[in-house]
Amino acid sequence: MMGFDLIFGPSVERGPRTQRIYLTFDDGPNERATPAILATLAAERVPAAFFMVGDHVRRFPDLAKEVRWRGHMIGNHTYNHTKLHFFGPQRIRTQLKKTHDVIETATGVAPRAFRAPHGYRSPFLNSRILEMSYTVFGWTFGVFDTARPGAEVIRRRVHKRLKPGAIVLLHDGDGYDPKGDRMQTAEALPGIIEDARHAGYEFAPLSELLSNHS
Ligand SMILES: [Zn+2]
Repeated sequence: MMGFDLIFGPSVERGPRTQRIYLTFDDGPNERATPAILATLAAERVPAAFFMVGDHVRRFPDLAKEVRWRGHMIGNHTYNHTKLHFFGPQRIRTQLKKTHDVIETATGVAPRAFRAPHGYRSPFLNSRILEMSYTVFGWTFGVFDTARPGAEVIRRRVHKRLKPGAIVLLHDGDGYDPKGDRMQTAEALPGIIEDARHAGYEFAPLSELLSNHS
């Protein structure tokens, strides 16, 4: 369940091999896709985790607050969706801290999880993560929903790749463009949930995989 890299440290890439699976949405909040996804999650009583870009949270604090208010977990996904391997320790610290603070201010709750943009981590990240008591999350599989292949294709790709304990990577925003279009992912979600339940899976909150879960 835990991947470990000597330089980059541990990251959680899947849950225990049970029927429990985990939905995650990256790169939001986004004015159109985030509310649409929240509505589906509420209607279906499905928990999810949102790894947010700090600059988008600054722009749309009420959306971040809404995500939290509905009981979903919010994680830190850097301030500018930065590829961390280009950065030294000071800039990494700033990216993480600014995002931590803007999420806490908007939602009243400090994030406890981090996911690196594009999965690129950095040797400098490790000490910072430990200092912030974050759990680092990767993912079991993504479906390239950001390329907007069509809602039906997104739905089918998820269905094909589902497996016990999977952490599914989807996107409710664009890491750089606050107006990026992620409506295909939002439109695919009801079908993704239906297929998974039909196959016997149950949606669980990613927070149960936090290393310091209490
Ligand atoms: Zn991202």
